[in-house]
Amino acid sequence: MPEPSNGPGEGPAPPAAAAVASAGTAGTGSPLPQLRIGNGYDIHRLVPGRALILGGQRLDHPEGLGLDGHSDADVLVHALMDALLGALSLGDIGRYFPPDDPRWKGADSLALLERVVELVQQRGWTLVNVDAVVVAERPKLRPHIEAMRAAIAARLGIEAERVGVKATTNEGLGPTGREEGIACHAVALLQRP
Ligand code: MG
Repeated sequence: MPEPSNGPGEGPAPPAAAAVASAGTAGTGSPLPQLRIGNGYDIHRLVPGRALILGGQRLDHPEGLGLDGHSDADVLVHALMDALLGALSLGDIGRYFPPDDPRWKGADSLALLERVVELVQQRGWTLVNVDAVVVAERPKLRPHIEAMRAAIAARLGIEAERVGVKATTNEGLGPTGREEGIACHAVALLQRP
């Protein structure tokens, strides 16, 4: 019986010993960081008589609508908090800031975000980046995106370049399309040396 061969045209060559030895170091000789990813989602109703706060910015809706909720109802920041908590399997924001707790009535969600960042840091993790997409028909978010990124980055303790905030409409479809609410999806990546 001939020996099994991995010559040209006969399948992939086995990894070289040096490559095996460097596995887990990306060839740099230093250990790869541990990584964790989390995702978050939130939606709040649009109602009259409430402020519209997104990413810590107060916006004007053409019909004077704002987001309903126990806190300031900043759906963007809420989705980010759930992404951070999710990355470490720490549950959701309702566990830390229950909506029936009077302490969080009218709370500034950016301040709550800072507390979530503390939870992450206490466990030895640092934030690599976050990214979010807000689903809203109106108002146009583009003029406010940079201010949102800066405000969020300041509370996260990272550069704005690591904070993605995007906006999309829902093409008139579903509850966000009918402007019954504004939703947000977010992801967060954490690392630990
Ligand atoms: Mg919420």
